[in-house]
Amino acid sequence: MKFVSTLDSSHRVSFLDAVSRGIAPGGGLYMPESLPTLPEEIRTGHSKEGFAGIAYEVIRHFAEGDIPAAELRTLIGETMNFPVPVRHLDDRFSVLELFHGPTLAFKDFGARFLGQVLSYQQRQADREVTVLVATSGDTGSAVASGCSGVPGVRVVLLFPAGKVSKVQELQLTTGGPNITTLRVDGTFDDCQRMVKQAFVDSELRSRLVLTSANSINIARLLPQIFYYISSWQELAHRGKEIVFVVPSGNLGNLTAGMFARKMGIPLHRFVAATNANDVLPEYLRTGVLRPRPAVSTISNAMDVGDPNNTPRLQSLVGGDIEALRAVVSADVCSDEETRKAIEEAYGAYQYTFDPHGAVGYYAAQRFLAKEPAGTAAVILGTAHPAKFPEVYRDEIRQRIPVPEQLRALTGRPRRMLSVRADFNDLKSILLHS
Ligand SMILES: *Cc1c(COP(=O)(O)O)cnc(C)c1O
Repeated sequence: MKFVSTLDSSHRVSFLDAVSRGIAPGGGLYMPESLPTLPEEIRTGHSKEGFAGIAYEVIRHFAEGDIPAAELRTLIGETMNFPVPVRHLDDRFSVLELFHGPTLAFKDFGARFLGQVLSYQQRQADREVTVLVATSGDTGSAVASGCSGVPGVRVVLLFPAGKVSKVQELQLTTGGPNITTLRVDGTFDDCQRMVKQAFVDSELRSRLVLTSANSINIARLLPQIFYYISSWQELAHRGKEIVFVVPSGNLGNLTAGMFARKMGIPLHRFVAATNANDVLPEYLRTGVLRPRPAVSTISNAMDVGDPNNTPRLQSLVGGDIEALRAVVSADVCSDEETRKAIEEAYGAYQYTFDPHGAVGYYAAQRFLAKEPAGTAAVILGTAHPAKFPEVYRDEIRQRIPVPEQLRALTGRPRRMLSVRADFNDLKSILLHS
């Protein structure tokens, strides 16, 4: 399959090129040239395949011509090596728990797949690739973990000193020897500026193969299609109309759901739930897209003021906002409402949502209140509550089981370098370490 730029449909590249470039010239995003229709047994919810089998059916169309079938199956096996359970709170609310991977957030799907694809590509070309990421927390830890020990892939992560949580810092600094973590004396914006500078530096470009790992990279997005399909299949036989509720920031997860729908899965509606950074809800309401600086909230992985997958979403509906409104609803949840939603779910079901999932639970409640009783909501549980201990009161916090993935990190040696918010520091590390 070829991939085309959202800015220029005559710019066509292979799957592997789209992944290693990350972003198209001029800032366009890569989109599959067409979306294949899935086999009938998957579209009707009667596939006998397990998660990995469905994943293979989805991804093979995109990687066709670039990665041989047997390799692709191995690579999916390496990516999806953790459970993806659906928890039924009652007959109307379920949670699709996407947080049982190594860094306890759904970003593990995309980051692990990206690491595997880059490693495959390196084996063909025999040239080391350097993944450069500025992170405010979750992305960097997922990429560090997804690429740790992956042959042929080197990762350089930049995070702002003092601005990530304790758990996140632990995850960022305990990767393997191929992960270099830089603690930048500056803000997240400084980190991002340094990374952008690296991508346009001609000396770096000529001496290294550099790629980016944020959610503009198509390899981060494609593996997120799988879990919509597998969970829908699990729920399709309960005789309910299902809406997916997606805690949203850069809109990668929502875009993946829309891909599943376009590939023939009868998903009727999505509810995008945001925190105070309500660019998408406002866009759906007013028709005007108004990017702005992000504000800080307790669901910080969704503190995004300029969602980077918006062009993909627009392209999927041919730029027609009415077509988008017909499929996507949106709602906004304040920090106070997030805390209230955590308490309510704990009281009603003894279930502890992380702050991002709680934003989804809030939106799901409000959406279902207006729907017939035959509609059920699947809330995407995007992170494990143990990642955010500071959010909970003592009684709730003490009942959150500490996952093995976190316990395993505690004793490990930490490695990081402290640098100034200066591009030259980054450049010399990239060239000489
Ligand atoms: C990144 C992230 C989100 C937002 O996902 P997008 O695909 O950027 O919309 C939501 N929840 C958690 C826990 C995240 O890490």
